[in-house]
Amino acid sequence: MSSVSERYQVIIVGAGPVGLSLALMLALKDYRVLVLEKEAGTAEHSRAPAIWPRTQEILADLGVMDRFTEMGILKPSLEIYDVDRDTCLFRAPLETLSDQTRFPWLLIIPQARTESLLLEALEQHPAANIRFSSEVTELSQRDGCVDVHFTAPAGESVVSGDILVGCDGAHSFVRHAIGAHQEGLTYAMQAALADVRISDSIALHSPRLTTTPGIAVGIRIEEDTWRLILPFAKGDSIPLERRVEEAVENLFHHSKWEPVWRSEFRLHRRISSVFSRGRVVLAGDAAHLNSPVGGQGMNAGIQDASRLAPAIEQALRSDPEETLQAYGDSRRAQIAQGVNRVTDIMTRILLAKQGRFIRLALSGANLALRVPGLRKKILRRMAMLD
Ligand SMILES: Cc1cc2nc3c(=O)[nH]c(=O)nc-3n(C[C@H](O)[C@H](O)[C@H](O)COP(=O)(O)OP(=O)(O)OC[C@H]3O[C@@H](n4cnc5c(N)ncnc54)[C@H](O)[C@@H]3O)c2cc1C
Repeated sequence: MSSVSERYQVIIVGAGPVGLSLALMLALKDYRVLVLEKEAGTAEHSRAPAIWPRTQEILADLGVMDRFTEMGILKPSLEIYDVDRDTCLFRAPLETLSDQTRFPWLLIIPQARTESLLLEALEQHPAANIRFSSEVTELSQRDGCVDVHFTAPAGESVVSGDILVGCDGAHSFVRHAIGAHQEGLTYAMQAALADVRISDSIALHSPRLTTTPGIAVGIRIEEDTWRLILPFAKGDSIPLERRVEEAVENLFHHSKWEPVWRSEFRLHRRISSVFSRGRVVLAGDAAHLNSPVGGQGMNAGIQDASRLAPAIEQALRSDPEETLQAYGDSRRAQIAQGVNRVTDIMTRILLAKQGRFIRLALSGANLALRVPGLRKKILRRMAMLD
């Protein structure tokens, strides 16, 4: 067994968007940070494409927002186009929040870009050290520090940190290692997700929705690349390839297209039983998971990082275990009452009766947005400003 070779103030497990944001926040303040990532590089798939105003404010504080704006698509007004009825079904005028945020728009950018931009910024900081192909396999807490065992191409190593943060995603090893378990549920509806390249699609309305024969939503995530979201009932056994082909036909009536990737997912609402234990704390999908309806999962994770960073600074000064526990308890309550609950309500409404109410639900939300007293409240909630 190797002995402890290096000591850091903070060790972060996982170089997803949450681990990278947190590492950047701490490196900017000159804390010695190590990020351990089991894969050879950041992820290549587009996954979460939506970045809401509150998250953009956080990215701006990290000094990376100009690059995001340069590479993303800005939506000052989020309009959902109803393909079947050739009309705008829902309109959320985010631009009316211009007196409340510097970023009154939705930014669309593939998650792979988000990760590469964060990594690019992180690599410029001498206080941060990132190691890919390094899988954490064991943790132990002793005498005011956490020992972390990881395997890398060069063999097994042990490093030690004052604090360890598990940003290691839905199947978190760190969560398991601290004896926490996930609470929550898996929805009866499932979803197929796919990215497709559609030629000559730049002028088409995005997002777009059809409900015939089943629900299909298309969101343009790059110039000619669209994310398709195709909810379906458990037991509906149409092959994925055909499901995507039909959705492209129904959404775009288009013959020239090619698949980029596609997959089927179960949808969950889950939260870890605790967010911290001793000097170990969880953030992002490791701590909480919700359905992609509303596009808030990654955003909530980056917002965890912005709340956790000051708690870590305080914990490094004094009372680390109490400070992290106070952070964990309060953040867990916020997530349970906030993102997890709101996303759960939206998911249930939109997927009720296999999606038969989706048009009604969106029309209802559209009407609510016309009521002056409600509009700001709903928009602030969408923008994640509350
Ligand atoms: C297909 C898909 C579509 C999605 N769409 C949306 C969306 O539209 N909007 C939205 O907000 N969210 C969406 N999400 C969710 C979003 O992608 C996640 O919320 C986000 O990636 C969470 O970031 P994270 O950094 O917490 O975890 P992850 O991105 O999962 O990163 C965790 C990292 O930890 C690494 N790791 C794991 N175990 C170890 C270990 N033992 N040692 C070292 N490294 C380890 C992994 O390799 C990974 O790189 C989607 C997810 C999927 C899968």
